[in-house]
Amino acid sequence: MEPVIVQAALTGAIATTDQNPNLPTTVEDIVLAGIGAWRAGASVLHVHARDEDGEPTQRLDRFTPILEGLRVADCSAIVNLSTGSAAGRAEGKARYECLKLQPEMGSFDCGSFNFGERLFANPMSFLRDMANEFMDRGVKPEIECFDVGHIGTALQLRDEGLLEEPLSFQFVLGVRGGAPATPQQALYMRSLLPPGSTWSICAVGRHQVPMNLLCLATDGHVRTGLEDNINYVKGVRAESNAQLVARIVRIAEDIGRPVATPDEARALLTLRNRR
Ligand code: ZN
Repeated sequence: MEPVIVQAALTGAIATTDQNPNLPTTVEDIVLAGIGAWRAGASVLHVHARDEDGEPTQRLDRFTPILEGLRVADCSAIVNLSTGSAAGRAEGKARYECLKLQPEMGSFDCGSFNFGERLFANPMSFLRDMANEFMDRGVKPEIECFDVGHIGTALQLRDEGLLEEPLSFQFVLGVRGGAPATPQQALYMRSLLPPGSTWSICAVGRHQVPMNLLCLATDGHVRTGLEDNINYVKGVRAESNAQLVARIVRIAEDIGRPVATPDEARALLTLRNRR
């Protein structure tokens, strides 16, 4: 079986420390969460920044010390920075200013939809500008698809020469307003991908573990972490990102699927900005 890339989404832009006090929101805690997840077996860290009050932000000066902290700790995990809207606080170029830090990967939200009550706007003009920035900086886009049509948009951008194969997809399932987190939905979306693509599922809340298992049992990769799910099991808050990663690693080992090292993940994802 192909090694599984385990990605840890450390904090995101939605969960709060009121919901789970173990959620990392300071620079120091996000760095420590990243190191812990990497030591537990994560080869990719999906990183959002928070401001001095713990609120989501896309400010460059909040991403910089996180990357620096991981570097100083000799953390060899791939860093995948969010280019999301910090829950509606950032728009336009401000969303992807963090690509100036030349992370190995960045998230690429490939279409608009109603994210709960809020419009998550990713119009074509914005996607083309952002895709150019990814290319210029050598950053691998992780194409986040919240619904089926977003895959079509990715293929259109590929045809326009703005996204380069092999493509890496993250299906974000179970968000209100997006596609449901069901095996049928996930496998249908997978069937639309060009040969050679990699794919993973970010499923929110109670859907996280079932979709992790689907990915482990097929040729998918896994995303876990407190961004997507603040619980370990129903009614029990997760202690840390590392705890969630360790569970996936344990299951992968039990079923004979090797867990990719960061360098194996770099090769599988065909990264250009290698550290
Ligand atoms: Zn995210």
